[in-house]
Amino acid sequence: MKRTSIICIVVLLLIAAGALIIYRNYLHIALIALAFMMAAMLFGLLYILNLDRRRIEALKREAELAEEIKKSEQRYRALFENKLDGVLVLDAETMKIVLGNKTAAEMFGFSSPEEAIGRNIFDFIHPEDRERTFRIVVEDMLKTGLRRIEEFRTITKDGKEKWMSAVGATIEYEGKSAGLVSFMDITDRKRTEEALRESEERYRALFAEAIDGICLADAETGMIVDCNQALAALVGRDREEMIGKPQTILHPPARGNTVLSATFKQHLTNKEGQILETQVVTRTGGTREVEIKANLLYLRSRKMLQGMFRDITERKRAEEALAKALAGRNNLLESANDLIYTVDINGNFTYLNPRVEDYGYTPGELMGKRFLTILTEKHHGERFEKSIRKKVRQAYEVELKTKEGAIRICQISTSPLMDQEGAVIGLIATVRDITEREQARAEVTHLKEYSEKIVASIPSSLLVLDKEMNIKSVNRTYWETRGIRDDDVAGKNIKEVFPGDLLREGGLLKAFYEVVETRETRRLYGVKHASSDHPEKILNITVSGINHTEEDIIMVIEDVTERARLTEEVRKKSKDLEGFVYTISHDLRAPITSIQGFSSILLADFQDKLDDTGKRYLARIQANIRQMEILIDDLLEFSRIGRTDGTFEDVPSVEIIRDVLDALGPQLKKRGIKVNVRNNLPVIHCNRNRIYQVFENLIQNSIKYMGDAESPVIEVGCRETDGFREFYVKDNGIGIDPEYHQKIFRPFQRLKEVDAKGTGIGLAIVERITGIHGGSVRVESERGKGAIFYFSVPEKA
Ligand code: ADP
Repeated sequence: MKRTSIICIVVLLLIAAGALIIYRNYLHIALIALAFMMAAMLFGLLYILNLDRRRIEALKREAELAEEIKKSEQRYRALFENKLDGVLVLDAETMKIVLGNKTAAEMFGFSSPEEAIGRNIFDFIHPEDRERTFRIVVEDMLKTGLRRIEEFRTITKDGKEKWMSAVGATIEYEGKSAGLVSFMDITDRKRTEEALRESEERYRALFAEAIDGICLADAETGMIVDCNQALAALVGRDREEMIGKPQTILHPPARGNTVLSATFKQHLTNKEGQILETQVVTRTGGTREVEIKANLLYLRSRKMLQGMFRDITERKRAEEALAKALAGRNNLLESANDLIYTVDINGNFTYLNPRVEDYGYTPGELMGKRFLTILTEKHHGERFEKSIRKKVRQAYEVELKTKEGAIRICQISTSPLMDQEGAVIGLIATVRDITEREQARAEVTHLKEYSEKIVASIPSSLLVLDKEMNIKSVNRTYWETRGIRDDDVAGKNIKEVFPGDLLREGGLLKAFYEVVETRETRRLYGVKHASSDHPEKILNITVSGINHTEEDIIMVIEDVTERARLTEEVRKKSKDLEGFVYTISHDLRAPITSIQGFSSILLADFQDKLDDTGKRYLARIQANIRQMEILIDDLLEFSRIGRTDGTFEDVPSVEIIRDVLDALGPQLKKRGIKVNVRNNLPVIHCNRNRIYQVFENLIQNSIKYMGDAESPVIEVGCRETDGFREFYVKDNGIGIDPEYHQKIFRPFQRLKEVDAKGTGIGLAIVERITGIHGGSVRVESERGKGAIFYFSVPEKA
């Protein structure tokens, strides 16, 4: 502003000077002055313009600065709000909270930082820590600036106790002096410390009060780091006196003349937790027998050996007393059931109780001899050496040789015997004969292996289940056919392992429950099972209980797919063959009829042209043609059996038999045959005409082959066998040599001994018919002793 006025004044003065000059007519001077004036005005104008630009820049900078401050304030806010530590700003005078972040609010149990405002922070400090914290905050921090309050307890709004540590600094907040305090929750750490302290205290207490002596020694130097009162008492020294001394002071000089005692080294080298028997030495030079259990541990990264010393002096004394008692040959030993003997340090018998006689020896003959005398060559006495050397008890099996040379398997247990000074003087052994037990065990193992081998080798799958259907074991075939391992199914329930089509549709579940209930075996035939892994399989499944266990169920699964396929193939082929036979026999009829016709014409029309020989030949041709016709008829009939499917019905078998007997009545009468038909003949489900044929053929045969029996009798009856009705036709005729029992059932097979009419198809027809009914036929007979033909049909066809 000032500068602008000066410039204006100068410009006015210059104009005034210019006007004066023009007025005085100093034109050339006026022109020069005017030029100067204009230059001055131009400079002035430029100056003013430049001045404004600088002002604008200054303003801009100010605005930027303000923006930056705003941003950093926001950043600070965000930091403050989201800090993991709790931060509170306290009024320095009243100690009331004037500002706080979310974490602090949560730490003190407020729902929001706003809720905390206006509260006195000391209302939330544990009463016992209040004074100390107050002193630090008010007296130190507010006066000296930054200050740390180590650890103190707070009580949250909802009464929970928490451990915190805090650091504070003085600041100016909204023009007033204030304290900025940052809190950290250390409750978890405190708890861990507390737990650690407690466990340390417990260990301390155990250590101090243990009945056993405990010594903690540096594993490298062997220096005693600590020991308890019990150990001090054991060696008759003060605890303090021992700490810092080498552990060798605990043991007799003979063992501890090196930096570390022999036992200490042994404990270090051997695996942890071992027990060694040794001696400790007392301050007065006496020794105590101890058992030391040691283990390695790390204490503040130092390797330590902790030894627990147990005084076994008394026990040792007791053992010695026992040894003495043994020396007196106690009655107890004499009457013991086991063989008991003692040997000296060289292994020579010093005592044997009378039980040695069980092995054929007398005590007297063995006294002074080596114990190996009664053992087999397999034994060399290594264990004896060890017992003596290490003073240890042992138990093992030996082969004892009786005086007769038999070998007995015995269990032997030995204990070293010691004198008063603790030196080994021999050992005592107790021997028990376990031969029978071992044999029984071997037998059981053998039987088990044997049955396991059988089970493993059967080509069917076998599963053992408990009554809840959990699989206990399966055999090799099972996991081989399923391509899995035993472990994959053992323990699983069959419902998890078996597919639904087998369990439900296949009837496996039902069969299983029935077996559990009744303990009777159930068989499932032709169960169909398909899966994504394989095409349809046909299975026969047997479910049964195992006799000696009430609970277990055994399931055998047999894959009969191949068998069923083959049966089907055979059935198809034989059907084809039947068709073929039928066609052939049918086609043969025409030429035969024609031969028959022409031979008749020959005989009738050319009678006079034929001589006797010609006539005889023609007659034979005709006889053979008739036989051939019968054969073809039989063949046709035979091939028809499987082709024509007569209906099945329930028929009282007695009716069929009566019909047959009526039809055969004249023949029976002629030969004077008596027929006995048994009572209670069953109703059977069958093709009536076919069963008629069966009875007809059998009874007809009995008549035909009755021979010259004096009182010919035919008996017809029936009996029940495992799911079948078995009929029989019995005669007292000529009988059949067992050699031909198979042959007679084949088509056209006849035995030539008797001159009876027939083609040899009858029994083949019987076999086919019974087969179609699901049954079978057989014969029991001997030559000259009559025959019984049995044929069966299923109970429920
Ligand atoms: P066929 O009676 O037509 O010879 P079968 O097939 O009925 O034919 O009998 C075959 C053979 O069995 C007979 O030839 C006969 O030797 C013998 N046979 C059958 N039934 C009896 C029977 N009841 N006693 C003795 N032999 C018999």
